[in-house]
Amino acid sequence: YRTVSLDPSIYLHYLQSQCLSLGVTFRRVTVGHIREAFNQNVLGRSTPDVVVNCTGLWASKYGGVMDYQVVPMRGQLVIVENESHGMFSLSGDGSMKEEIGDRVTLAGGTALGGSCYLSWDREPDMALAERLMKRAIQICPQLVPEGAGIEALRVIRHQVGLRPVRSAGHRQSWGKLRVVHCYGAGGFGFQSSYGMANKAVALVGETLGWQ
Ligand SMILES: Cc1cc2nc3c(=O)[nH]c(=O)nc-3n(C[C@H](O)[C@H](O)[C@H](O)COP(=O)(O)OP(=O)(O)OC[C@H]3O[C@@H](n4cnc5c(N)ncnc54)[C@H](O)[C@@H]3O)c2cc1C
Repeated sequence: YRTVSLDPSIYLHYLQSQCLSLGVTFRRVTVGHIREAFNQNVLGRSTPDVVVNCTGLWASKYGGVMDYQVVPMRGQLVIVENESHGMFSLSGDGSMKEEIGDRVTLAGGTALGGSCYLSWDREPDMALAERLMKRAIQICPQLVPEGAGIEALRVIRHQVGLRPVRSAGHRQSWGKLRVVHCYGAGGFGFQSSYGMANKAVALVGETLGWQ
């Protein structure tokens, strides 16, 4: 099938450069409790007017938020140099949950995967990786020379990510603490990013009493 595909390692740098060109300042700090976010000295000002909480999966452990509805849905991919010349999808076990044969063409190479089940484990499961590679060749034989198997796949890396799924759906709201929440995008954080960002801006406006 045909669709839009983006490589996050390129796209996120693009977004950051867009923000920098618009005057956004980036600082990397780990905060243990949402109250601490108000102690950050931003642009020489003592207290931020508003804090936007977009901590993804970590909203489940973040002091002052502790949203137990947020859980990790583990996704594992095998990134290979081989070209698939198209996108294909097939359910691995018939449920579209355990293993999804999903080939996405990147800027050079192909992502083979993935999986979608509840787990905090960030280590690649090599037995799963082998099943993903075999299934990829089954539904997309042009990945390798005719008759070849997974040994013909040139693996760049095995990748594991944890989707920040929230059982009640993503959370976008604000409260009396001048905190705007924006997390729980699950497996659609890129697709929904512009819509969620627009809503977050509107919520910041409400918090600050903008018209
Ligand atoms: C295998 C796989 C395939 C996917 N496919 C798609 C797809 O096809 N389309 C799609 O739209 N989405 C897809 N996703 C989902 C997408 O990656 C996520 O929805 C998205 O990355 C969530 O973004 P986020 O900014 O909400 O959270 P994150 O990217 O997790 O960002 C949260 C940030 O908050 C920071 N943070 C957390 N706690 C603290 C703290 N206490 N102090 C300071 N900083 C903190 C973290 O360091 C991190 O930078 C996929 C995910 C996986 C794993």
